[in-house]
Amino acid sequence: MSTPVRPPVRSKDRFLVFGAPQIEQAEIDEVVHSMKSGWLGTGPKVARFEDDFKLYKGAAHAAAVYSCTAALHLAMVASGVGEGDEVITTPMTFCASVNAIIHTGATPVLADVDPRTLNIDPARVAEKITPRTKAIMPVHFAGRACEMDAIMALAKSHDLMVIEDCAHAIETQYHGREAGLFGDFGCFSFYVTKNVITGEGGMVLTKDEAHAARIKVLALHGMSKDAWKRFSDSGWVHYQVIEAGFKYNMMDIQAAIGIHQLRRVEKNWERRREIWNRYNEAFRSLPIGIPKDPEPNTRHAHHLYTIMVDEKHCGLARDAFLPAIQAQGIGVGVHYLSIPEHPFYQKTFAWKPEQYPHAMKVGRETVSLPIGPKLTDDDVADVIEAVTRVLSHA
Ligand SMILES: *Cc1c(COP(=O)(O)O)cnc(C)c1O
Repeated sequence: MSTPVRPPVRSKDRFLVFGAPQIEQAEIDEVVHSMKSGWLGTGPKVARFEDDFKLYKGAAHAAAVYSCTAALHLAMVASGVGEGDEVITTPMTFCASVNAIIHTGATPVLADVDPRTLNIDPARVAEKITPRTKAIMPVHFAGRACEMDAIMALAKSHDLMVIEDCAHAIETQYHGREAGLFGDFGCFSFYVTKNVITGEGGMVLTKDEAHAARIKVLALHGMSKDAWKRFSDSGWVHYQVIEAGFKYNMMDIQAAIGIHQLRRVEKNWERRREIWNRYNEAFRSLPIGIPKDPEPNTRHAHHLYTIMVDEKHCGLARDAFLPAIQAQGIGVGVHYLSIPEHPFYQKTFAWKPEQYPHAMKVGRETVSLPIGPKLTDDDVADVIEAVTRVLSHA
């Protein structure tokens, strides 16, 4: 790598942190209110956040939990997935999607992505269906809607459950309908780098009341409904443990943040879309790959802006680009090395990256640039300048 002759675009003390959250006074005040009220754990604010999120998505039932990982795990359990079953998902996702399958005792099966959309390819899913297949877990990658018509048709004809990983997809729509409401369960993340944050946090949406009730029980030790009410003034109620559950509940302190974050969800989406379009304009003439336009009649959540750095075209490899742009003071991410690149999955399932060539190629070329609502126009200009500079030094 050549040493820049000029000082970096941003000095060390102005390093642009990737995915830095936007925290405003309203959520600070709400957290302080929780602290002063003494009610920190699962309580009225969690219930309010569930109602608000349900309303935003137009969902029938919502259960707030500690993380999207917990949401995925509970959705798997509530789907009846277990030992001997197979669940088909994408190799282009965060490890949590695959781990949620593994923790039920089921076997994850990967179906490669469409290289244009980076989403699971329904044609590849069809090839992987066996008599043991119990469910499909599509991931709306970067906020781009999966081909839900084709996926739901497969699920219907093979009697499969569908669990949507919507960690990137709070604002995503497909053919006029909300992501997360197609399948049996939609799982959302409010992790610090996501589009709506609670620090750690997740949500399960479902149209089935019994599913929602079971998830709430499973999320709190398997204790019968509303066990938290025993601490309030509405009279003593003994809880009963009705199955071996988990400790996956969301706290009021988390919900306090989420309630106010959710109010800005559309405004922040507009801002990310603006940044997305600005990057598109700036990068069209560079030798890098840029995201394809959203498919007609869909709404992209613009959660990630991912460029592809291919050594043949760019003169430097992705793994040389990463430290070079960081040296310019710009924090970036990699979403993701394909799942079979990781030693655990290689060892356990004998997966090789080459078996999923599209996901492998994407995983080895992709770089996520900052796209949060906190970015100023000057920050965005700095990112563009840094990308341009790194490539011109290549
Ligand atoms: C972030 C993420 C998760 C996990 O979310 P947590 O809330 O951190 O547990 C799962 N799947 C995908 C695709 C993600 O990006």
